[in-house]
Amino acid sequence: MRIAVPVENQRDEARVALTPESIKKLVASGVEVIVETGAGIKSGFLDDEYKTAGASLAGRGAVLEADVLACVNRPEPDDLNKMKAGAVILGFLKPLDEPAALEPVVARQLTAFAVELIPRITRAQSMDALSSMATVAGYKAVIIAAEHLPRMFPLLMTAAGTVPPAKVLVLGAGVAGLQAIATARRLGAVVEAYDVRAAAGQDVKSLGAKFLEVDLGSIETQDAGGYAKELSPEALKLGRDMVTKRAAASDVVITTAQVPGRKAPLMLTEEAVHGMRPGSVVVDLAASTGGNCALTQPGQNINHQGVTIIGPLNLPATVPGHSSQLYSRNLTTFLGLIVDKGSLKIDMSDEILKGACVVYQGGNVHPKVAAALGHAVGSQ
Ligand code: NAD
Repeated sequence: MRIAVPVENQRDEARVALTPESIKKLVASGVEVIVETGAGIKSGFLDDEYKTAGASLAGRGAVLEADVLACVNRPEPDDLNKMKAGAVILGFLKPLDEPAALEPVVARQLTAFAVELIPRITRAQSMDALSSMATVAGYKAVIIAAEHLPRMFPLLMTAAGTVPPAKVLVLGAGVAGLQAIATARRLGAVVEAYDVRAAAGQDVKSLGAKFLEVDLGSIETQDAGGYAKELSPEALKLGRDMVTKRAAASDVVITTAQVPGRKAPLMLTEEAVHGMRPGSVVVDLAASTGGNCALTQPGQNINHQGVTIIGPLNLPATVPGHSSQLYSRNLTTFLGLIVDKGSLKIDMSDEILKGACVVYQGGNVHPKVAAALGHAVGSQ
């Protein structure tokens, strides 16, 4: 059985799906691994390191003929159309955002596993690529904010007088938000955070930040899976009013609030931005799902009346070495579920495989994807 790693061709992508460290383990487990020449260059992994780890280097044609294609991003339709029937693709496939792009997977009778859909159960924690990438994004958001802020983060007592610490407000205290809080604290900022899930308060406080609370009465804010629920307009407004006040006192606002499968909630209105001091910085990590800030322009940095508003779309790719290392470990653990004694063996009764499988041999389309495609191709 052959697992292959392609060059990631998407614009601004610098990650690679598997690193030499992981390939060494996979080869030891009895599988053959082929890597497209130069696949790891942008993330700092050289062809020679892949060879030393036991992989063979190949051109794109051979890579696309493999049994399993381990990717970061969904391959282009041209690539999918060159894969053999029954082959497996694994990666960030955007199954709910861009379901139509998976049509070639159905047509070619491929099997596709989307890492976005890996269930967030304890057994799958080591495969949780969303958390790995959110960790990197939360860290990098603070670094970007520090770079754009015309002030320093830490409290400094100098012969020229005292420099007060930066004030950072983090909206949404999930994986990315907590990493942003931890990073801002390490740089010496005074941090406060808001999350609609009261349960996040403990995590926020344990990182030395203040948790901002809004009385939402008896409204249920968290679903059974631990995710935020979509709020009523009234409940959202209560949070926004508080955020408007706190943003006016902040040098940096980092927004990470998301509700899975929905447009990101509006947390920072135009009025709230107008209340911020010139020189302040907003980094909106929800830019790709509509943005938490009313003025965010996805993929751009803008200056609005002196406030810098940054809407990055793929921060993990800007830290490609560590992003690839974490992602590769996630994928390798997942691959352990479909490789048995060096052969491909997919047990669709496994909760993790069933949850992450978008298409199985061209059929059994994941119900959410089938619904998004508007047709049921042998739905699960
Ligand atoms: P996410 O990216 O979906 O959302 C980010 C944060 O935004 C969440 O904390 C959410 O509560 C918050 N949010 C949403 N709407 C909001 C609003 N209107 N106002 C304020 N905040 C709002 O979340 P995530 O980082 O993927 O994590 C979500 C949950 O899943 C967390 O409880 C996390 O600890 C949990 N989790 C569990 C596992 C596991 O394996 N068991 C793994 C990762 C995360």
